[in-house]
Amino acid sequence: MKVKLQGKDFREFPDGSTVRDIAFAISPKLGKAALAGVCDGEILDLMKVPEDGSNLEIATFDDPEGKYVFWHTTSHILAQAVKRLYPEAKLAIGPPVSNGFYYDIEFEAPLTEAELPAIEDEMRKIVKEKLELERFELPRDEAIEYAKKNNEPYKVELIQDLPEGSVISFYTQGEFTDLCRGRHVNNTGAIKAIKLMKVAGAYWRGDEKNKMLTRIYGISFPKAKLLDEYLNKLEEAKKRDHRKLGRELKLFTFFEEGPGFPVYMDKGMTLRNNLTAYLRRLMKRENYQEISTPMMLSSDLWKTSGHWFHYKENMYTSTIDDKEFAIKPMNCPGGVTLYKQQMVSYKDFPMRVAELGHVHRHELSGALNGLLRVRSFTQDDAHIYLLPEQITDEIKNLMRLVDEIYTRFGFEYKVELSTRPDDFMGEIEDWDFAEKSLQTALEEMGVEYKVNEGDGAFYGPKIDFHLVDCLDREWQCGTIQLDFQLPQRFEIEYTAKDGSKQRPTMLHRAIYGSFERLTAILIEHYAGAFPLWLAPVQVGVLSISDDFNDYANEVKAELEDYGFRVETDLRNERIGYKIREATMQKYPYLVIVGADEAENKTISIRPRGEVKNQSMSVQEFIKKMRAELVEQGEPEIK
Ligand SMILES: [Zn+2]
Ligand SMILES: [Zn+2]
Repeated sequence: MKVKLQGKDFREFPDGSTVRDIAFAISPKLGKAALAGVCDGEILDLMKVPEDGSNLEIATFDDPEGKYVFWHTTSHILAQAVKRLYPEAKLAIGPPVSNGFYYDIEFEAPLTEAELPAIEDEMRKIVKEKLELERFELPRDEAIEYAKKNNEPYKVELIQDLPEGSVISFYTQGEFTDLCRGRHVNNTGAIKAIKLMKVAGAYWRGDEKNKMLTRIYGISFPKAKLLDEYLNKLEEAKKRDHRKLGRELKLFTFFEEGPGFPVYMDKGMTLRNNLTAYLRRLMKRENYQEISTPMMLSSDLWKTSGHWFHYKENMYTSTIDDKEFAIKPMNCPGGVTLYKQQMVSYKDFPMRVAELGHVHRHELSGALNGLLRVRSFTQDDAHIYLLPEQITDEIKNLMRLVDEIYTRFGFEYKVELSTRPDDFMGEIEDWDFAEKSLQTALEEMGVEYKVNEGDGAFYGPKIDFHLVDCLDREWQCGTIQLDFQLPQRFEIEYTAKDGSKQRPTMLHRAIYGSFERLTAILIEHYAGAFPLWLAPVQVGVLSISDDFNDYANEVKAELEDYGFRVETDLRNERIGYKIREATMQKYPYLVIVGADEAENKTISIRPRGEVKNQSMSVQEFIKKMRAELVEQGEPEIK
């Protein structure tokens, strides 16, 4: 048999070779790490034989498909352990999720987290028993009987949902059998490290009219070291939680009267202004115009854009002079309306129009999450109008810009290209041309990217950027999307070289994504210890006693004259206490002034994270900070 490997060349294998055989034939190392095969997009058990001529990729724990089968198998082990300890428990569903797996189970008495360690121990026993997972199939009616006999009412319901005549698969490991579609690791022995994380309530089928089941969350790894790393990162993430730090550093808050509507406090606003200033500086360099379109516009506009018909449940509406209005959920329709009022020529292209637009979108209250999921936020939006032949160059420009910005924050990032979906709008030739242009840009830039076939928006293909923060968590922030729909809906035009009226190509792009989301990510990424250029307060000036308050104020005034952001602590408290409190605020620098300093006109500075002070003049300190700012990418002040 012939199999095409990892999308490259065909290779011959003995007939009947399983995924595992093939993995071992490639290399013993891969054979050992292999968890599944991905065959033309389908996940295959290791013991399956791929079809002759198919395209096979071997998945290890590093791949999403490998994690899928690994965690899926662990959820069976969880169910088996529960049935051993609680024979009356009734099993519902137990899928793998993005961070581990869960199982929904009905217990006679409510399960508490105190019982999880005992279940974990039983799971470890099952791992040690090295049980093979064996598949068998039953016709639907027999499968229902089988589940009834085993006293598993939820499984009965699940099977009853499947169409008449379907064949139902079960998997047995030791004394335990579970209804399952399959795709597992073949032996429980592969699961080396297990942790049950928490229990929560979950309604059967997510319907609150149904019974509340107990959902047990867990995660597992092929190596103990990976579990330790994961738990450390979780611990670290908890310390860095932006909601907690946002409160402690007095950056933002929420009112009970405005759920999901963030409130920026003075320091949060300064942070945001710093982010804005940086962006504006780049927009100027890149020849962007900046506009601001109205917060509310009449329903006529939202009907033209289509939002009124497809997005109304997410929009806040109101009435002005008996006319229906909506608060904008997006900036594009306003931007396009402004374009339409102008005479645009091909010579103006690429025409880059930025809008730091404050938008509102309705989110369910249960979905709200600090600054990460809000009902009002400001996008760093821009719309670029251009000719089709300008797409590749413009995308390359944008990718350089994205790289510059993310690198400055210290983020790694991943790039994904999403192509034409089935329900696409517009002409196939335009799509093909646009996709080709995006691909050419990605290739000419030499970036690695993943293709999400058919995952583009219905109005155009797109490139997404996923930030990777210092805890290796991914956040989708930046996006570049082509749009074949809006220019047509709003009938916008430009004057071509030959004087004719033509429809421009349009693209949407955001790099921060939203200020709110980026702020949350930055707080967690830096653990609140912002670099000098971003820090809301750059210097905290502390007086050793009241006698030196005047000198402290002098120092503050001098630093402020040079544009630095300074806060003083002149309270009549012990200096040790003041230093401790200021340290919690994570200022990049503390300046301490007492008798020596006041007399010699010097200051004692303490950089963040250090315990020793350095003595220097205020002017020397200013020079030092200016050099640091330039090193961090701020323009040099002459
Ligand atoms: Zn399964
Ligand atoms: Zn847009």
